[in-house]
Amino acid sequence: MLSLVFALVLPILGSFVLGLSLDDVRSELGPQLSGSAVVSENGRDFARWSDYHAPTAGVVVTVACEQDVAVTVQYCIEHEIQFLAQAGTHGFTTTIDLDDDGILINLRQLNSVTFNDDKTEVTVGGGALISEVIEAASSNNTLVATGNCNCVGAVGAILGGGYGSLMGLYGFGVDNVLSLNVVSGDGVLKTVTFGDDLFWALRGAGPNFGIVTSARMKSYPREPSKQYAWVGALTFTGDKIEAVAKAISEITLTAEMNIYMFFLDARAPDKKPTIILTPWYYGTEAEGRAAFASVIDIGPTLNTMAETHYTHWNDGSESACIKGGRKPSYAAGLAEIVPETWKQVWDEYVSWVSSNDGRARNSTVILEAYSMAKAGSIADSSSSFPWRSRLKFNALIFPCKRTRSLLQSTSGLYPPATYVNFAHGDEDLSEIYGHNLPRLREIKAKEDEYNIFDQSFYLGPSY
Ligand SMILES: Cc1cc2nc3c(=O)[nH]c(=O)nc-3n(C[C@H](O)[C@H](O)[C@H](O)COP(=O)(O)OP(=O)(O)OC[C@H]3O[C@@H](n4cnc5c(N)ncnc54)[C@H](O)[C@@H]3O)c2cc1C
Repeated sequence: MLSLVFALVLPILGSFVLGLSLDDVRSELGPQLSGSAVVSENGRDFARWSDYHAPTAGVVVTVACEQDVAVTVQYCIEHEIQFLAQAGTHGFTTTIDLDDDGILINLRQLNSVTFNDDKTEVTVGGGALISEVIEAASSNNTLVATGNCNCVGAVGAILGGGYGSLMGLYGFGVDNVLSLNVVSGDGVLKTVTFGDDLFWALRGAGPNFGIVTSARMKSYPREPSKQYAWVGALTFTGDKIEAVAKAISEITLTAEMNIYMFFLDARAPDKKPTIILTPWYYGTEAEGRAAFASVIDIGPTLNTMAETHYTHWNDGSESACIKGGRKPSYAAGLAEIVPETWKQVWDEYVSWVSSNDGRARNSTVILEAYSMAKAGSIADSSSSFPWRSRLKFNALIFPCKRTRSLLQSTSGLYPPATYVNFAHGDEDLSEIYGHNLPRLREIKAKEDEYNIFDQSFYLGPSY
């Protein structure tokens, strides 16, 4: 019977549904949900990281157990209601476009983080934040591959690939996933693992294929003394941009290392735009200093580097957690760093933040460089994440599209490649999914025939 409903209803899902009523959802769906689930109006509690092209929703269903997700998705299918899963709220692609007739499935109560007896495996709830995973991992004397920003959804980040400080040692987030509990296109909660097409597709193109209610992943036991990295910030004046970019392009990042560069305005003592480097070294200060000697030798005006406990590795990105405000964002994948291009990017940035009557204040440009050794040792075909061997660096630009074009002009990547989790939403699909696009489309047709998971980059059929 349900399959008949699917066949009749799903091709038009999302287009013609009007007049979503909170009372109706409460009375119809409410009794099917577990006791701690809540059906409510949308409001400030569900505010997103960026208001730019942000989805709105008429009703929010805050699920409280994995089966609640299945029940809610089935309700949406049967009532032709478009829906969106939300965890950390940091997704910023403009392709998310839920409106008042849609239901937001708030996953935040699915935030449990549990370990097996010997701490080599962790099960992370689909709504857990990175901070919650790190806190739990540290208390259990183990490390888990997460992203670098505490307020981001841990699973949300992994479903697009999952960059993070530990990737030199353990690979991408997707490389650490052992199985996933997921509600997919048929509205049924199931477990998928190696050998399942859906498992392959979810690890790189996750939001296109289902709602992951929990992820079982590898974790890496480490005694307390091995939970330290040398972390902090080096501040440079603008005249050092080419030297800094050259040092980043020439440094050999071993498995223990990664480095970010940020452009910030009005933070330096003289209130001028400034360059911040945040080297990261899993080990001691002496080891870190030796590894990053080439950038330290350039001569920072401020150095806050210190041996730092696992639970504070992400402290430097706390300011990026502030929700709300328009944050249009563009990204460019890079295979190489050209110092002359970065000088131009810097000049554009300075003129951008100095103009527009201060409206561009708090804009930034970010360059991320990770050790790719471990990730590169894993087969390209192991997951649907497409850029394992091509994307050496990622640049994020808030909010200037022209700067993206400039960076892409010397990226060393033609055609361009972009990390799906950083993509703006105007990219060609092949730029996002690369050589995996045909297989992803095939799996989409099989696992989500009517494209009910339509809030990411479009892989569905055309009607
Ligand atoms: C400040 C900042 C820092 C970031 N740092 C990193 C980083 O260190 N490493 C990295 O790889 N990426 C990083 N990202 C990108 C981030 O991984 C993506 O934006 C990711 O999609 C955010 O997930 P979320 O749960 O926070 O956001 P949401 O907006 O809640 O979700 C984003 C998308 O993922 C879907 N989604 C979320 N959870 C699930 C789930 N359980 N099952 C299925 N779909 C789900 C949503 O439906 C939506 O389509 C960062 C982004 C920002 C803004």
